[in-house]
Amino acid sequence: MTAMGHIIGIDLGTTFSCVAYLEGQRPLVISNLEGARTTPSVVSFTTAGERLVGNLALRQAITNPEHTVFAVKRLIGRKFDSPEIVAARKRVGFEMVAASNGDIQVRIDDKVITPQEISGIILRYLRQCAEQHFGEPITEAVVTVPAHFNDLQRQATKDAAHIAGLEVLRVINEPTAASLAYGLDTKKNATVAVFDMGGGTFDFTLLEIQDGVFQVLSTNGDSFLGGEDFDNRIVEWLVEEFWKEERIDLTQDKLALQRIKEAAERAKRELSFTLESEINLPFICSAKASSLHIKKILSRSKLEELTEDLVRKTLPCIEGALDDARILRNKIDDIILVGGQTRMPLIKTTIAGFFGKPPIDNVNADEIVAMGAAIQSGILGGTIDDLVLLLDVTAFSLGIETENDTFETIIERNTTIPTKVSKSFTTVEHNQRQVRIHVLQGESKEAHENRPLAIFYLMGIEPAPAGVPQIDVTFEIDADGLVRVHARDKVSGSEHRVEVRPSSGLTRSELQSIIEQHKTPKAE
Ligand code: AMP
Repeated sequence: MTAMGHIIGIDLGTTFSCVAYLEGQRPLVISNLEGARTTPSVVSFTTAGERLVGNLALRQAITNPEHTVFAVKRLIGRKFDSPEIVAARKRVGFEMVAASNGDIQVRIDDKVITPQEISGIILRYLRQCAEQHFGEPITEAVVTVPAHFNDLQRQATKDAAHIAGLEVLRVINEPTAASLAYGLDTKKNATVAVFDMGGGTFDFTLLEIQDGVFQVLSTNGDSFLGGEDFDNRIVEWLVEEFWKEERIDLTQDKLALQRIKEAAERAKRELSFTLESEINLPFICSAKASSLHIKKILSRSKLEELTEDLVRKTLPCIEGALDDARILRNKIDDIILVGGQTRMPLIKTTIAGFFGKPPIDNVNADEIVAMGAAIQSGILGGTIDDLVLLLDVTAFSLGIETENDTFETIIERNTTIPTKVSKSFTTVEHNQRQVRIHVLQGESKEAHENRPLAIFYLMGIEPAPAGVPQIDVTFEIDADGLVRVHARDKVSGSEHRVEVRPSSGLTRSELQSIIEQHKTPKAE
């Protein structure tokens, strides 16, 4: 940290992002260049070669759907062929393509752009907002991610920050950040549950706050469940109704679909406060020389019927987290809601029903995560006076593939991080000279069902009968939740150290070349 440099805290959300800093002991939100406290996580590329970010991008999304990228956080660190992406590809206006390593990329005209770059453009804009606020360069940040982001998604988020010219001092989990802001504000010792549903992800986290020690007990969730799924249910309903009435399939019309999507999201928000909402989309398409319109009333109860299963999908995650922490639901003192989607009354009543008490309703669900990130920056920078110790956990078990597709766990999920665990392995053949180590993250006993992180080879093992060599494999998870693996053959002393990233993500040289390209942006 430079002597006077400010460290910013960034909540890089699926639909909205927010940046905050610490003023004395208090976290404060920094307004964006248009004066708003949150910024839509949207990037648009105009035909004039300009890049627009936030509201400017959002405003022309309808007229420019193929060049407007939404919810890129749902793509980051994922494969083109993954079931989540196959489903998402049908719904978005922009084109997605596969990179040579199977990662997902976005195609804008003849240019292929990685999700890391698009997130990087959003982060650069937020950095610019902070620079305007302080009147000085900003180079360091704490960035939040969903607790359920795996190693690839965390690394990709860090790469995005590098592209934006930011050094990430710490990656912290969004629910943990929220609890930091809540706990420091209330100064209360409590067992707290954080229910976090934003635009694209759902996390449920249990914490114990005790005299300034924030100990995460367990976390569970779904990195592909969020507000967008609720919007999509309304879109599907509108498209279906239109088909029934007009026999026209609107899914083929990108412009119409974009308008329906926006109207659906607006109606959903409104229905958190009213019982009925009118969806009015004149001139949605034309047929047989006449213009057709959508005019529908959506009631709160219809919305609840369309999305009830999405809300119910959160309950096994909550139960899983309670089981892992060995806590009964009636022992939770406070339930904090984070993320815009938690404003939905059905979510509040479902949670209240489950825990037998209503959630706390005086936190700002849109800003609390960025505020927590700002507090974390104060902890790292030594500007927080109170004793605060944050002990987070890893959301996934980590291990390697052994014989017959077996997954050998090395670090169990919900282990406090940073952590380091070693295990010994041996060869299966006589005179085997090398061992393949396949690193995976997940909970299945079958290796192929877990997420591959990397494959590496430990070479130069001394010839010996099968089962004799002893190879120690050490797995480390750092405070950012990132994985490092190190293997060592005890006899030969042959070592192999890897940073877990080859199966996916940008190589160092790719990242460097993107950083160079983004140093001179055309316009933002
Ligand atoms: P976040 O990523 O936390 O900004 O959450 C954004 C998600 O919250 C989007 O899917 C929004 O549609 C949703 N959202 C925002 N406000 C409301 C509201 N009043 N009722 C229901 N959902 C909302």
